[in-house]
Amino acid sequence: MKALAALILFTALGSAGEISAPFPREPRAFRATVSYGEMAAFLDRVAKPGFITVAEEARTAEGRKIFLVRLNRGGAKARFRVLFYAQQHGDEVAGKDAQLTLIREVAEHPERLPEDVDLYLMPMLNPDGAEAHRRVTATGADLNRDHLLLAQPETQALHRVARRVRPHLAVDSHEFGRDGEAYAQRGWEAWPLITMDAANHPLIPGYLKAAGLAAVAAAAPLQAKAGHAYQRYSVGGPPPEEEIRPSTSEVDDGRNGMGTLGALSFIIESGVRHRASNPQADLGERVEGYRILYRHLIGTPAWRARIRALTERARREPLPAFIATNTFWGNVGGRVHRVKVREVATGRTLEVPTPNVMRDLVVKGSVPTPRAYAIAPEAAARFLPVLTAQGIVYRTLASPERAQVEAVRLLRLEEPYDPLYQRYKDRQIVERQPAVEALLPVGTLLVNLDQDLARRAIQVLEPCLLYGLYAYPGFRAWAAPGAGLPVSRVL
Ligand SMILES: [Zn+2]
Repeated sequence: MKALAALILFTALGSAGEISAPFPREPRAFRATVSYGEMAAFLDRVAKPGFITVAEEARTAEGRKIFLVRLNRGGAKARFRVLFYAQQHGDEVAGKDAQLTLIREVAEHPERLPEDVDLYLMPMLNPDGAEAHRRVTATGADLNRDHLLLAQPETQALHRVARRVRPHLAVDSHEFGRDGEAYAQRGWEAWPLITMDAANHPLIPGYLKAAGLAAVAAAAPLQAKAGHAYQRYSVGGPPPEEEIRPSTSEVDDGRNGMGTLGALSFIIESGVRHRASNPQADLGERVEGYRILYRHLIGTPAWRARIRALTERARREPLPAFIATNTFWGNVGGRVHRVKVREVATGRTLEVPTPNVMRDLVVKGSVPTPRAYAIAPEAAARFLPVLTAQGIVYRTLASPERAQVEAVRLLRLEEPYDPLYQRYKDRQIVERQPAVEALLPVGTLLVNLDQDLARRAIQVLEPCLLYGLYAYPGFRAWAAPGAGLPVSRVL
């Protein structure tokens, strides 16, 4: 075994310290993505104790490894912790490819990794989906819709790492389609090659959200210099008819999931031409686009010191007095924006005026922040796996306890998409009951909000959230109209 390892090391390292890899040295030369098997072999070769650590963090349903790679040459001096993760959606490949080039670059040129940076990478979170060229896992789960329940081994692994490492900076990487049906019908495609946005959940302190948006804006000249069309990531259809807005403000995705854990958190999405004869013809350009953003976010020593101070302040930040429960994206004042699209036939960039760019997060409903949540004993078994996967601290009552309790009744679960406010499906419409002095029975799970992960606990448990647990499988049984919800607010 030892002899074999030595032989691999010998063949992997050329005379100039070059490391052989299943991808081109020049990122722009990428024309094909790296497979799971190629990646696993490469990580095996590149590992170097005390500098590049490669660990198996979890196994998928089909038995593939979810790798965690750590790059650290400063030891305890590496105080700025960064977590890059990618390919939650198996068929969105370029972020992983870019991260592998980063690992190779640092392996060959250790001096390019700043000594104060402790860099963790999970380049392929969904290897089963990757191998099958599909978005979901082998069990059909969309991982980037599983950050609330954490029901999958892949998302559990990511959150376990995030709670262990507590990154100051976290970046998720995806791909979107540039040439979807609605764009193609107009002879257009989406303008940007590469996009980025920051976490936007209402419980993330404003100064952290502002720092995120500033970093998104500051990347524009860097991408322009590289010749890449870049803008803030948004979702929606072609202008002017269709709404264009930032991504969801909920926490069931990685960006807000890591954001509510206290990281300055981002998503990068590059645009793929799925209708092209070779959708990967521009893979190299896109890989370079991710690399520019990764380097930009690792930033300068001054930036790292500032973000470390901001995120550590955010983690100590007391909870706000009120929790926003009902929000939607609007255009305050009805401003007209000019949205860029690319005309396919001519390659020209058009600017289309539209009043449907919705960038203001409107808070329509809030509730006072409670002291704790009480989960009824008969629901405990269903909630326990979620609390455990989220690392939320709770206490099981061994004897009845008196408390001021506010019960919440579900009026209805609105299942269809809402075309009026353009809101996602499965909205929970609830009614708070008057607070009463009550005796919480034995077996109640009590979740106090004076804990480290209070923001996660609110997201999982607050019964008044417009988008909460009761639309998810296993929780729908409680979503009968008029039903009392199993979680009460303790005041
Ligand atoms: Zn995706």
